[in-house]
Order: sequence, then structure tokens, then C-alpha cells
Amino acid sequence: MNKNKNIKNGKGHMDPPKPKAGHVAPPQPKLEADPNPGSRVNKMIAVVSGKGGVGKSSVTALSALWARRQGYTVGILDADITGPSIPRMFGLHPWDLSARDNTLYPATSVTGIHAMSMNLLMENEEQPVIWRSPVITGALTQFWTDVAWGDIDYMFVDMPPGTGDVPLTVFQALPVDGILIVTTPQDLVSMIVGKAVAMAKMMNVPILGIVENMSYVKCPHCGEEIRLFGEGHVEETAAAEEIPVVARLPIDPMLAASCDAGKIEYYDGDYMSGLADVLPKVELKVQE
Ligand SMILES: [Zn+2]
Repeated sequence: MNKNKNIKNGKGHMDPPKPKAGHVAPPQPKLEADPNPGSRVNKMIAVVSGKGGVGKSSVTALSALWARRQGYTVGILDADITGPSIPRMFGLHPWDLSARDNTLYPATSVTGIHAMSMNLLMENEEQPVIWRSPVITGALTQFWTDVAWGDIDYMFVDMPPGTGDVPLTVFQALPVDGILIVTTPQDLVSMIVGKAVAMAKMMNVPILGIVENMSYVKCPHCGEEIRLFGEGHVEETAAAEEIPVVARLPIDPMLAASCDAGKIEYYDGDYMSGLADVLPKVELKVQE
């Protein structure tokens, strides 16, 4: 028998031993956390922005509302720990959560949207959260591992603002299927979109579209769209990056009032219908 049959190219490199039949590969290390056994989440959409204060949470909420109105089962994971505003918009409170046998169940809104937020775990809902980022990301990961979400067609994640360490860690922990970018006409749109595109590439997740918030005001008399902050650069940036513009949202005092009153679900603006073209498809279950 030729002793040297494993020697490759005459350079002395040994072929790795062939696995025996029935060999099981060792588990690969992964950052992504396993979902709670009580969760079956079909598609997860992360909503990101370049900074805070651009209405990322209202876009998240309106996206969830749109999907719910189409008949999908919907969840909102509020990962914007520095300004968790989802519960306020939906009128949800800590007592809307329930827990059984080490499992936490999300709060459910009047139209049946399930939500989890740090604000629902705080004794004082007004108290700002000032935690270091490892604690924050640990807590957020638990929203995924310890919360039984049930059957969810679309889960929208209100991400921490920016493209820094905290959103990146949240991305690594969650099985995100697509990203929506929220900008305003005042933003440095091309820079923000560029950073989001870089982050998306790193995470190997597609960018589904851009939403321009605070885009215009509608004249109450004639319905004319007045661009208070001038023409944004969303169209040209979107075209350059080949990303669709999913929606342009007005500054609407009615929306602000609905959010403040915890009644966003009664708001009838249907600005997010462009999602129909970009969301990864989920088959709508016929409800009995
Ligand atoms: Zn007018």
C-alpha cells in the first residue's frame, strides 16, 4: 500500500480525514438567539433611522397597522430602548403583559397587534432608560428568547436609532429578513442611506425600501402638499442605491394626537400601502 496516498501535490499537505458515515458536524457558533418555543415568526422587518426624532416609531407603528388591516398577524418588538414609544401610541401598559411558567406573553392592542417593549417592564413608564449597551442588548435578546409571541406573519422591530454598536448587536441577535430606512427631508439622506446599506451588507439582509417622514404638510383648505423643509434628496438617493421609496408621510397633527392619546389604531391615514410591493411574501391564512 502506498504510504503517501494522502499527500497532496507532493507538498506534504495531508487531506483532512473523511468523516465516517453517520458523523454529525459540531454546531457552528452563532450570534443569533433562538426564539422562544412559543413563537412562530414568519418574517421580521427592522425599521432603522440615521438618528432619533425622525418618527421611526410612528413609521413602525403605521407599518404594523397596515399589515394588520390586510389581515396578517402582526407583532412589534420595540427595540428603541432609549425612547420606547410603541406602548404609548397603542395605549398599552405594564398590566397588559402576562407571564406563566417563566414565559412572558406580549401585550395585545385593541386590533390584535402584539407588542413587547422595555416600557412595559418599567414601574415608572415615564422614567428614561439609562443602561449600558450590553445590558440593553441582553434585555432585547430576551424579548426574543423569553417572550412567546405565538403565530406572527410580520414582526416589525423598532430599532435603536443610528447604525452604531447597539443596533448592530440587535441585528446580530435577531433573524431579520429585511430593512426599512426612515429619513426626513432635513436628513443627510445619502449619508444615512449609505451607512444603512453598509450595515445591511454586513448582516446580509436586503433593504426593502426608504420611507420619507415629515415630507410635507397638506393644506386643510385645498389639499396642496406644502414641502416645509424643501425638496428632500430621497428620490435621487433611492434611485442611486436602487432602493424603492415605499412611502412619503405628511406632518399630520391628527397622527400626533392619535399617538399621544394611545389611539393610533383609530388613525385612518393609509400611507404605508406601498409595503404591499416590498415586504417578503407571507401567505395570508384564511381566518375562520
Ligand atoms: Zn391651500
